[in-house]
Amino acid sequence: MDITFLGTAAAEGIPFPFCDCPTCRHAREHRGRNVRRRQSILIGGDLLVDAGPDLYASCADLGLSLTELRYALITHSHPDHFQTVNFAFRQKGFRLQTDLRPLTVVASPLVFAKWGGAGVSDDSAALARVSCLPNDRLSLPPYRVHAIEATHIAEAMNYVIDDGRHKLLYASDTGLYREHVWETVKDHRFDAVIMECTLGNRTRGPTHMSVGDMKTMLARMRELGCIDDSTPVYATHFSHQQVEPHESLSRMLLEEAGVHCAYDGLVVTL
Ligand SMILES: [Zn+2]
Ligand SMILES: [Zn+2]
Ligand SMILES: [Zn+2]
Repeated sequence: MDITFLGTAAAEGIPFPFCDCPTCRHAREHRGRNVRRRQSILIGGDLLVDAGPDLYASCADLGLSLTELRYALITHSHPDHFQTVNFAFRQKGFRLQTDLRPLTVVASPLVFAKWGGAGVSDDSAALARVSCLPNDRLSLPPYRVHAIEATHIAEAMNYVIDDGRHKLLYASDTGLYREHVWETVKDHRFDAVIMECTLGNRTRGPTHMSVGDMKTMLARMRELGCIDDSTPVYATHFSHQQVEPHESLSRMLLEEAGVHCAYDGLVVTL
């Protein structure tokens, strides 16, 4: 499984143009891995998780095409994760020289309710919408996907993505899982985990995670046998107000929690 991090920031991105905090100032000056677009990952060129406002720019930066995309899993409707314009421009008139394979968009019914028609012809955009609720298991060949209830907003889901060879947990956006959610997680054995660490080590909150919350989640997963000490874990979805620049953030995450700091353009091969 090849995983490309298209963006690794929370809602405002880093640097946030309307912010003068030290992390944003540092990112403007030093750029490189300090610059983070709004979060999204691409798996194997054909499965996208989340489609936020930076999707096109991330692909342009990284030299990636989405013409082979078959599936888009949407975690929730917050605007840093879901922008309908990404799909609207798939309509035939905007890609006269390109035939696209159908794209199955998987999301909560609440996301689709907000999406509505939005001027997009699903036929012309080669879209199929598939409603999904927490605990649902979907077959999206070659992938099998299990939706996990997140602790975030009403419809938010995390996803277990299995390509037949490796199994990934994508845990963003979420706070600590509620007790009953572990029943749906406990039978999985993950080859890698991507987990949000929006709040860094500066604060705590119920609907996002700090590095302390990550440690709590990972300890529970080890206890249940979902991961072991060698399972790679990547932190992502960073808020400029809560984290240091990339280098010191990376060091802190490794020292405090033994996890890797994702950055835009990072490719992980399982
Ligand atoms: Zn978010
Ligand atoms: Zn800032
Ligand atoms: Zn969110």
